Amino acid sequence: MYDLAALREEFPVLSTCIYLDSAATSQTPRCAVEAMNAYFFEYAANHGRGAFRLARRTTEEYERTREHLGEFLGIPADHLVFSRNTTEAINLVARGICWEKGDEVVTTALEHHANLLPWLALRERGVRVKVVPQEGGYVQEGGIQEAVGRATRLVAVNHVTNVLGTVIPVEEYAQVAHDAGAAILVDAAQSIGHMPMPRTDLFDYLAIPGHKGLLGPQGTGALYIADPDTLAASCYGGGMVADVSHDQFTLLPCPARFEPGTPNIPGVIGLGPAIGLVKALGVGAIHRHEREVGERIHAGLSAMPGVTVYSPLGSTVISFNVAGMAPDFVAVLLDQKAGICVRSGMHCAQPLTQSLDPRGTVRASVGCYTTNDEADALVRAVGEIAREKATA
Ligand code: PLP
Repeated sequence: MYDLAALREEFPVLSTCIYLDSAATSQTPRCAVEAMNAYFFEYAANHGRGAFRLARRTTEEYERTREHLGEFLGIPADHLVFSRNTTEAINLVARGICWEKGDEVVTTALEHHANLLPWLALRERGVRVKVVPQEGGYVQEGGIQEAVGRATRLVAVNHVTNVLGTVIPVEEYAQVAHDAGAAILVDAAQSIGHMPMPRTDLFDYLAIPGHKGLLGPQGTGALYIADPDTLAASCYGGGMVADVSHDQFTLLPCPARFEPGTPNIPGVIGLGPAIGLVKALGVGAIHRHEREVGERIHAGLSAMPGVTVYSPLGSTVISFNVAGMAPDFVAVLLDQKAGICVRSGMHCAQPLTQSLDPRGTVRASVGCYTTNDEADALVRAVGEIAREKATA
């Protein structure tokens, strides 16, 4: 049984507000905070750089999280590189591929800036970027198949869109990319921890947030690399080398070669038990719960005069607007009137969001800890705001 009351005990902050911005970042459970406290208070040292007891324990705990994440995703832990966030994971790929002039990246009109800007920035190196159009939050039918060709080096797509919550058939696109001899990167920022994943070993690169569906602390993420030899290191320094002289150096294998310098040790150590919590809840159960709450919000807002809902039914990321009101103003009112935290504006996906409304949208996003009562409170508060506007 999904014990929501017990789960919410893990997140004391939830008693102070109605948090509906989990698509941006999740609240952090006690178990993660306690693991970070234990690191700071009991054994803090650097990772992989010491023979003394504290350093050995730090390295063990840090590497344990890599094992947990690998097990959780069904992929080998030594193909997982820790990063600060999803954005950095995607940039590791953009900077690590040895691009040639004329190479093409195929992406879509549904992407977060994190999965668009790194490719656009490559244009000055002669890489071409094709953006496949979208329709109603989905990639245009046959669009990827049509766009992928002999010059395509990489297909880069998100799995669940952060503006509308629509699910993209990434397994099908992996097949299309591989049939054309191209690689595929999947931006899983909005899916991992929220829903059962397709077989992750179908993808060449998987960009993983630690601080969203996996409930880890901010400043954590990872990149799965199916074949580490396809990427060059793009940041150099300590901890990544086997041998160094003044003339040359030999890099260690993955993951060390992609993790120079002191990483976010407490964050990664906190991520381990957070993944344990997600596993204990079960991603299938989380998905069912989040959908139920999302549908409640969707139904309530869709029935409301003066409110436009852009996300399809079934989504757990619900974008909407109140007629005649700026999204930011609606977000401020929701906070003032009912302590409700929602995101407003472009959601770092300006092309997609502006296609819905040039001013952006208000976005309510559900987490594993969101209750039906909180969904109802949002619907009531939006209703009040819309009525006040209509009668003003
Ligand atoms: N991709 C998508 C689809 C997102 O929703 C986000 C953030 O919301 C990102 C990438 C960037 O994630 P991060 O903040 O972990 O870099």
